[in-house]
Amino acid sequence: MHEMSVALAVIDQVETAAAQTGDVGAVRSVRLRVGELAGVVPDSLAFCFELACAGTLLEGAELVLEPVPGRARCTPCAHEWAVGMPPRLNCPECNGPDAELLSGRELQIAAVQWADGDPTRAPAREPISEEC
Ligand SMILES: [Zn+2]
Repeated sequence: MHEMSVALAVIDQVETAAAQTGDVGAVRSVRLRVGELAGVVPDSLAFCFELACAGTLLEGAELVLEPVPGRARCTPCAHEWAVGMPPRLNCPECNGPDAELLSGRELQIAAVQWADGDPTRAPAREPISEEC
């Protein structure tokens, strides 16, 4: 499953970053830039991420997906357009097939929020919402 390998790669990167940062007790959230054309199903990735995080430093971490729209530029006429899904890679202006993909294949960690190093203190700092 593609999403599982993506989830494992994300966890691996975050653990490496945590080791470099030093005193990291837990991870609160991971923000991931996901291109429209990266071939990742968000729901499936969120599911795999939760599974793969069990027993790691990232257990309980929230995965925040930041979608990146796919855009292409026609090489001959320089027209730019949103490729959409399924992607349209022929230029809407001149119908030329010679286009360059500007964005949409991103799959990268944008930010990681570390939790407080002291796990006994961290959860209590979140305000508890009072819903009656
Ligand atoms: Zn064109």
